[in-house]
Amino acid sequence: MGCNSKTDNPFFETYTNKYGAPPFDKIKNEHYMPAFKEGIKQHQAEIDSIANSTEAPTFANTIEKLEYSGELLKKVSSVFFNLYSCNTNDEMEKIVKEISPVLTEHSDNLYLNDKLFVRVKTLYENRSKLGLTEEQIRLLERYHRNFIRSGAALNPEQKTKLRSINKELGLAQLEFGKNVLDETNAYKKFVTKKADLAGLPESVLQAAAEGAKEAGKSGQWLFTTQKSSFIPVLQYSENRELRKELLMAYTTRANHKNASNNDAVINKIMKLRTQKAQLLGFATSADFILDDTMAKTPKAVYDLLNTVWTPAVAKAKAEAAELQKLMDAEGKGEKLEPWDWWYYTEKLRKAKYNLEEEALRPYFKLENVRQGVFDLASKLYGLKFKKLSDMPVYDPDVEVFEVTDATGALIGILYTDYFPRAGKRAGAWMNNIADQYKKDGINHRPIICNVGNFTKPTKDKPSLLNMDEVETLFHEFGHALHGLLTQCTYPGQSGTSVSRDFVELPSQVMENWCWEPEVMKTYAKHYKTGEVMPKELMDKIQLAGTFNQGFINTELLAASFLDMDYHMKKDTASFDVTQFEKASLGKIGMIPQIIVRYRSSYFNHIFSGDYCAGYYSYTWAAVLDADAFQAFKETGDIYNQKVAISFRKNVLEKGDTDDPMNLYRNFRGSNPNPDALLKRRGLK
Ligand SMILES: [Zn+2]
Repeated sequence: MGCNSKTDNPFFETYTNKYGAPPFDKIKNEHYMPAFKEGIKQHQAEIDSIANSTEAPTFANTIEKLEYSGELLKKVSSVFFNLYSCNTNDEMEKIVKEISPVLTEHSDNLYLNDKLFVRVKTLYENRSKLGLTEEQIRLLERYHRNFIRSGAALNPEQKTKLRSINKELGLAQLEFGKNVLDETNAYKKFVTKKADLAGLPESVLQAAAEGAKEAGKSGQWLFTTQKSSFIPVLQYSENRELRKELLMAYTTRANHKNASNNDAVINKIMKLRTQKAQLLGFATSADFILDDTMAKTPKAVYDLLNTVWTPAVAKAKAEAAELQKLMDAEGKGEKLEPWDWWYYTEKLRKAKYNLEEEALRPYFKLENVRQGVFDLASKLYGLKFKKLSDMPVYDPDVEVFEVTDATGALIGILYTDYFPRAGKRAGAWMNNIADQYKKDGINHRPIICNVGNFTKPTKDKPSLLNMDEVETLFHEFGHALHGLLTQCTYPGQSGTSVSRDFVELPSQVMENWCWEPEVMKTYAKHYKTGEVMPKELMDKIQLAGTFNQGFINTELLAASFLDMDYHMKKDTASFDVTQFEKASLGKIGMIPQIIVRYRSSYFNHIFSGDYCAGYYSYTWAAVLDADAFQAFKETGDIYNQKVAISFRKNVLEKGDTDDPMNLYRNFRGSNPNPDALLKRRGLK
């Protein structure tokens, strides 16, 4: 029998692994399509049987049935889309193009099913009389909301229009991401003379030399638009032309006159999003999207962004002036440009704090940092992590851990996949391979994945992280904890299935611990000697805490404004992307020495991911996380058990079982106060 038969396809079999983990070693490209097709068929049959039932609707025969339907489809989707982000290949690119419109249509078949909507609506209207738990009422409200937001209340003609918008939108978003990935992979800068690389630390040279060798150009040095490759060049290279060339390569991705140019794709996406929002009764796409978040309105978002922007840009201007002074002292008559910022910032950091970021790397061996977050989770929540060596993985770089609680009970499984590869998109993220839920007396535990693109080990050095990478590792691990510690009844509410502007709280709060000397003592150990980072070095990190925050905040907030401005568009006429971006940044008074964190052509978060009108979430959640960490600080003990237990019980375990502001208030006893954030960032 061929591989396409059900018996040879791992998706059609129960995963035999004791944790229910996918058999990554057996899954092949040809298994996806048959599983998708059969999964959709089975799910559709279940939906039809719920919708066509002659029984009066009940929570159990409608909402619960929907909640547990589509098992095979979930099984194949979670594996496919997880690997599509971190281990894609040409064959998967073909599959995604084929399956994505089918999945969109399938989702529309669910939410635009009139009979089903009538059942959901009937239950919704009688929700207070059904004897439901609060969790169940919220789940019912969530379903009703999803139906409405997916167009269930539209007339037949509008529904047809919406279906075609959804289909086109899905494909356009994929195309956007594909163009960015292609452009990222296409750029290779080979440097042939060592003299052109003056100033670069030995470790960076070595990694670049190994990269060139792998690419068949021994004796040269390879640089790419991966952050772990070009950021060190921006920081340390004395070669201003090289700095400029690499930064320009990074910031013009998918913006060249070639087949990967994203201008037309952005136009298409924005037109479709605006049309969709207006079809659903909203003035703009931002109004539509924010209606289902903690922030609720564009005004609330702009208010927050402005609160932080004003002090941030003032600080950035002061920083620029300081950097210019350093340049003036060199007497070359050069004006500060974006490709100078990192370089002179490093010089200034050294002059002010006698701190060189590169000198810290030996203390941030990846395995030590990861052990550091594990130990932190042990101290806060009593968790234990045990490496599993016999689990199937999709790449040799992937490691798997069993997570248990203080009583030895299974909490979940964690995969870590930390190094760049050609089939992995840029950035870092957390994914869910299996949801947590409780059914028939069994508490099904989740399977979580942490993915990154950190500095790779070289021939004679392990992976040694920079500060940004250490913070990112803590951040993604925070998402993982949210996914792991969840204790919900329904899969649709568990783990990170919360509002986008709340989901960054559990991740960002973890960053607060990473530079605390008490925590650093546990993980910042020299990779050769095992010696703990000297106290004076830790003190310097503390002192330099608010250093360069003007830049960091300006870069980030400008991207948030740009995202919002796109989604505040009311008209659907075509527009010039470059001009639009320029106008958006001009309006807020962006300074020319800083480039927005993501320029439009590669702003994956908003054009290929689901952070559209959502990039502000990082700042929104920062208000929450700074205030939340204050709760620990106020007790004088960053491991305070009372606070940790409260955070776990009220936030991490709760998923979407309650309104996020209620969850937060249950933990903190009051609304979040933005002061802690402004102080932490040196903006107040
Ligand atoms: Zn995050």
